[in-house]
Amino acid sequence: MNDSANIKMQFLFALRSKGITDARVLTAMEKVDRAAYVRGIFADKAYEDMPLPISCGQTISQPSVVGIMTQALDVQSRHKVLEIGTGSGYQAAILAQLARRVYTVDRFKRLVTEARAIFDAHDITNITTFTADGSHGFAEQAPFDRILLTAAAEDAPSPLLAQLRVGGVMVLPVGQSDTVQTLIRVTRHETGYDYEELRPVRFVPLLEGLGQD
Ligand code: SAH
Repeated sequence: MNDSANIKMQFLFALRSKGITDARVLTAMEKVDRAAYVRGIFADKAYEDMPLPISCGQTISQPSVVGIMTQALDVQSRHKVLEIGTGSGYQAAILAQLARRVYTVDRFKRLVTEARAIFDAHDITNITTFTADGSHGFAEQAPFDRILLTAAAEDAPSPLLAQLRVGGVMVLPVGQSDTVQTLIRVTRHETGYDYEELRPVRFVPLLEGLGQD
């Protein structure tokens, strides 16, 4: 086995040992090259299970957390998915393996431009990128089957709850930004929403307005 196959095998083994057992999620994570989304001096750490710095003072999430969130979201091939917090684009690329279409938004134009360039270079055609304050969602394309936030809100933002299809699922970290937050899953029913606590996590905060970069 060559080095890169060995690194990938260890990566998948680490994901499984952290509780990612869904074969579709593991296959998606095997296919998407995290090194393409982690540039510069940290690229050689792309297959280690750690968050890493990206442009605009943000971070690409830890792979096992990406896996757990993707698994909790239970994405199906006919789904239209909204992701808030494009960051590096890595999570969006994984969602794009599983869903029909992914809409991803970040408040930093630079991050969106950089992620778009990677998607184009890899011929990923089912991701729509845009720059905006994602806490308002994307009313033009609502309702969404799945919504994923990769920045922590104090509560599930009400525009996003409203843009979730009945039967749809939203996964997000909630809590204050300087403490440990809780990953929750919200399921919309005919008459309301069910909330489920999944595990402690740590994310950058969901901020208002556009970023300066
Ligand atoms: N999913 C990313 C990691 C996201 S880091 C990845 O796979 O790399 C969190 C991102 O959320 C940051 O890029 C930050 O700019 C963005 N963010 C924070 N508040 C936001 C908001 N209100 N709207 C859109 N993006 C936001």
